[in-house]
This record gives sequence, C-alpha cells and structure tokens, in this order.
Amino acid sequence: MPSEFRLRLNRHIFEYDIYNLIRSFFPLAEVKIWYEGETKPEGTFDADFSVDYTDTRVSISFGMTDEALVLYKSASSVSASDDAGADGKIVTGGGDVLLASELSMEAPIANWDDRVSTKNDVKRLVYQHLHALTGQELPWGDLTGIRPTKIAMQMLESGMTDDEMREELREIYCVGEAKTELALTTVHREKKLIDSLHAEKGYSLYVGIPFCPTICLYCSFGSHRMDTYRDMVKPYFEALYKELRFISEEMKDWHLDSLYIGGGTPTSVSAEQLRELLQELEKNFDLENLAEFTIEAGRPDTITEDKLRVMREFPVTRISINPQTMNQKTLDLIGRHHTVEQTREIFLLARSLGFDNINMDIIVGLPGEGAAEVQETLDRIKEMDPDSLTVHSLALKRATRLNLFKDSYEPISFENSESIMEAAASCAADMGMSPYYLYRQKNMAGNFENVGYARPGKAGVYNILIMEERQSILAAGSGASTKFVFDGGRRIERAENVKDLHNYVERIDEMLERKKYGIENYLK
Ligand code: SF4
Repeated sequence: MPSEFRLRLNRHIFEYDIYNLIRSFFPLAEVKIWYEGETKPEGTFDADFSVDYTDTRVSISFGMTDEALVLYKSASSVSASDDAGADGKIVTGGGDVLLASELSMEAPIANWDDRVSTKNDVKRLVYQHLHALTGQELPWGDLTGIRPTKIAMQMLESGMTDDEMREELREIYCVGEAKTELALTTVHREKKLIDSLHAEKGYSLYVGIPFCPTICLYCSFGSHRMDTYRDMVKPYFEALYKELRFISEEMKDWHLDSLYIGGGTPTSVSAEQLRELLQELEKNFDLENLAEFTIEAGRPDTITEDKLRVMREFPVTRISINPQTMNQKTLDLIGRHHTVEQTREIFLLARSLGFDNINMDIIVGLPGEGAAEVQETLDRIKEMDPDSLTVHSLALKRATRLNLFKDSYEPISFENSESIMEAAASCAADMGMSPYYLYRQKNMAGNFENVGYARPGKAGVYNILIMEERQSILAAGSGASTKFVFDGGRRIERAENVKDLHNYVERIDEMLERKKYGIENYLK
C-alpha cells in the first residue's frame, strides 16, 4: 500500500500545485487535501502538511513518522515492488501521526494581486521545504507540469538572453543545471521552426486511425483490435471523411501547416484503404505546401511494401517506424507481435523506397528491461541510422493492461534512471541529433521526460506544435481532441470527439456541431 499524507490549507488556493509537488517528492503517496474549518480526515497518516496564508506571508509546516521517512529514504529507484508501503505507523490515541520529523518554513508574499509571481513564490517555498526535509533535488525543480519548456519559450520570446533564462530557471523554478541546458537547446530549435509557420491563420490537422493488429500491454490510447473491429473500418472511414470535408470547408480561409496521421496504427488498414484516405485528404486540403506531412506507420508488423509505395504517391514527408525495444523477449512480453528482424527489414525497405525522414520511437522503463537491454536497443537503432529518435519513459497510466495486471509482473522490475536517459541522449548525439521537443507525463516511471531528438532539418513540426500550443490543431476521428488556440496564444479551448467507434459513427453530426461552435466562437 502507498503512504498516506494529509494536506491542510487555510485558503482554497494553489492546492493542486502543492499537491503535485508533494507527489513529485513522494510518488507513491496518496495525499488527502482538506481545509481549515472542515472536519479533519480520520485514520492513520504517515505525514501532515499545513499551509497557512496571511495577507503578507505563507508558512508551511510538515511532520512525518520515522518509519515513513526511513522508507522514503531507502526507496532509491522506482520499481514495481516499491508499492509495498509503510507498516507499523506510530499513532496517538486520537489517530494523529506521531510527528517524528518536523520542519517549518515561511516566506513573504509581495502582492496577492500578482497571481503568477505569488504562485511561483509559494511553489518555491514548498519545493525548498521538501528539499530540506528529504535532501532530494528534482531535475526540473518545482516545474511539475507536462510542458516544462513552455516557460522557457515564454522567456525566450520576451527577449531574455540565455544567461538571463538560466538564472531565472534556477532562481525562480529551482531547475537543475542539466535540465536547464536541455530546455534552452530545445526551445531555440522549437522557436526556429515555429517562426517558419504561418503566425496568422495557420493551423494543423490530426487524423486518427484507431485500429491496431493487437493491443500492447501498456496501451492507453483506446485502440481497437483489427480482427475484432474489421467490419467497422468502412463506416468509420465514411464518418471520418465527412468530418474531413467539414474541416476543409470551415477552414478554407486558413493555411494548413502540418498534417499528422496517427492512431492506433494507421498502417493497420489495407493499402487500398490507405490510398483512399490519402486521396480524400488530397481532394480536400492543399498537401503540396505543407511544412510537414507525417504518417505514424508505427508497428512494423503492419507496414508492407504496398503501403509504403502508396505513401510515396502522396507528398508524405516523414514517417515513424516504432521498434519500442529491440529485445525480442520484451516485445513478446508486452504483446507486440512483431520481431526485431521485421523492424530492421521494414526500415531498410522504407529507406530504399526513398523515405528520407524516418523517426523511431523507443520506450525506456519497459518490464524486465534495465540499462543493458536499453543499450542493446540503442546499438541496433544506431546501425539502422534513422533521422530522428523519440525516447519515451514508460508511463503507468491507469487502465492499461500493464497496470491492471501489475501483480502478475511483480518479479519483473520497471527500471529507469538518469544514466539510461543519458545513454539514449548520447546515442542520439552519436547519430548527429539534438533535442527538439520534450514533455512529461503523469505517472511516468521515475522523474523523467519524453524527449524527441532529430538531425538538423528533420525535427517533427507537429510534435512541437502539440507541446508549445502555438496554433490550433483540428482533429478528426474517434477520441480525437481539437485544440483551439486563440487570443494570440493566450487562450485554449477544446472540442472532444467521442472515443467509442460506434458512437463516433452514429453521432458524427454532433461531433461536427462541437467543432463548428469552436470555429465560430474562437477562430472567427
Ligand atoms: S501500437 Fe500504440 S495504439 Fe496500438 S495498441 Fe500498441 S500502444 Fe496502443
């Protein structure tokens, strides 16, 4: 069982920022938030946090049982077995924890009206407090969001120099040196690409194909097995075409900058169905003037010479062939029914057909894999020599089969470490690549991020746009989420499509209505 903490505040403000920071230091803890004036949560807790605001100050106090502190300090790496929690809490008669370790800190609040800087002050104090308490430093400091580069991008765009950005990232957000340099390299590359797109009236299009040959153990995308849902492909495509025609008509005064076909696995449909989809796109959109057109071919077991040749009939500029790992044992374990050899063959075939921008995705933190297995994957990838490499840290999202059946994998470790991430970075550097985008996920194995590396001129434009939220992304297909970015990038609204395939087909007109509302209210 995970540890249980209580977090008490005397005002309803910044509680989720504080909550996220506590979870970053104590990833296995359940944190119960409560407010002054409410009934104190009953039970036995490993630690109590209190946050008290006045008009001019914020103070934080913390108390933890000895047992919980020892357990936390001994947990040096993330593994499935870390889920074993603290037994033997010391409790008083009233159910309160006996505060074996206590710490209080406070800081001034300059101006409550300046919400952003007040939030930064509070988060920094909480970070310093947790750091003093545990001796731990977080690589990204108090930045707990999924887009840590967004702040660096804002600084860059405000005209700050690299040294000023370094200082602010360190002083305001407590970001470590290595991540500061990673953020700087990344945002400089991102900015160059973003500046080459249409600042006014530019948008991107995402097309989702929610079918896969089998469902990977760790999948959290809600994909559908092709053999079970084959009959749904035709009605799905009909609904999808209706949505694409609608977008084309509504956005006819806008310039399409990038197009991304993802999933699922787009190549799980037949070569003929793929051609039909690409023809439909060609009929409705200007594909000749795109900054990028990506097809996430994805799983090597779905890619055939026919399908690659179909893609070559259209101006596809970038494809992704994703090994995830080059260890056969792991592929079998996680339910990806393809071989290491298939990945290599398909990659070489794509190269021979003229694809000159091929990305490969890998995952670190897969069950049973440690540094040696990841190094094996990196060595095999280096032999193939792709143009970009995306390194994902396995995120144990709820509802994936890996999480649901985690008990069955108890003896198998889930390992990720700074040195594994460094090995990936060094492999990318050996292939002439540097980082161009990064993001973090909740429940990620370890405190790590996903990083995209690319050679000069081969960075994925769409990936950057997703992260930096600089232009609207119209998304078609079941479960696709349209993002309206407006008001000079200061505001974002979403329109979600339903996930269920049958619902999507039956309620397609409702999906169009949702989009129409967004286009008319946010983009016109
Ligand atoms: S290939 Fe991707 S979308 Fe398909 S099942 Fe595996 S993780 Fe899910």
